[in-house]
Amino acid sequence: MITEYFRPLTLEEALALASRPDAVIIAGGTSVNADAGRSGANAVDLQALGLEGVESRNGTIRIGAMTLLQDLVESDLVPDVLRNLARREAPSTIRNAATIGGTIGAMDPESELLAGLLAYGAIVTLATADSMTDHSLNDILSDPGLIGRGIMTAVTAPSTGFAAADRTGRTPMDRPIVMAVAHVSAEGASPGSVRLAMTGVAPLPVIVDSERIGDLDPPSDFRGSSEYRRRLASVLAARVLTTVGGGEQA
Ligand SMILES: Cc1cc2nc3c(=O)[nH]c(=O)nc-3n(C[C@H](O)[C@H](O)[C@H](O)COP(=O)(O)OP(=O)(O)OC[C@H]3O[C@@H](n4cnc5c(N)ncnc54)[C@H](O)[C@@H]3O)c2cc1C
Repeated sequence: MITEYFRPLTLEEALALASRPDAVIIAGGTSVNADAGRSGANAVDLQALGLEGVESRNGTIRIGAMTLLQDLVESDLVPDVLRNLARREAPSTIRNAATIGGTIGAMDPESELLAGLLAYGAIVTLATADSMTDHSLNDILSDPGLIGRGIMTAVTAPSTGFAAADRTGRTPMDRPIVMAVAHVSAEGASPGSVRLAMTGVAPLPVIVDSERIGDLDPPSDFRGSSEYRRRLASVLAARVLTTVGGGEQA
């Protein structure tokens, strides 16, 4: 339950409010407000900070943390694979409230957009009371405490290169049992230039070494055993890596 509500006008003010006990940062609120178990909280709403918008410069896109998922879907600056993954993240009603920063903060285990951003090597800019630092999304997902009482202000990723994504779900519109996405830099495939990420093989979306898929230990659930998911991971990885290795988008 929200007991106090703040809508700061500056990042400094927002950071000060976010450092208070029981503060909870609200972006689109679709995840925070659905958390019925949360007790008394001071809501710090980021919507007046001007953190939205997509810019493209020198082969890089910079996406403000408050950019709506629907604005990603509709932006010509965002690579097609990421636009499609943003579309798959949630229905249009949610996409018109949910933000890219909130999607990172919510850390949904099956977020296809997070997997896509991992494959693109996304960098998250995090403001704290005394610094502004860049962290790889991979580091943030590996250590959620990094966000702490900071505020994510932007996400940057290459706008160039080739990417492909594929998935297997119970139905085409269902969330995937396993999903794979790969990105290769514009210079083409060379050792280390291809990044593969997946959902459904670990507690959160992860970067996967294509040579070590057999070592994965995916969680089992009613949709698929660990062994089945490992098999899916191998098949889907082969597909997306073949596509990006041939310089195609999918
Ligand atoms: C009906 C429904 C369907 C959904 N379907 C999906 C789905 O298919 N896939 C999926 O992944 N999710 C889904 N979600 C969950 C949720 O909508 C998404 O994770 C959404 O992208 C969260 O974005 P938001 O801006 O609303 O975040 P919020 O709810 O505002 O915040 C989420 C978390 O991030 C933190 N946060 C937000 N912005 C910042 C920032 N700039 N800096 C620091 N911390 C921040 C918040 O404090 C909070 O902990 C669904 C939710 C609903 C209600």
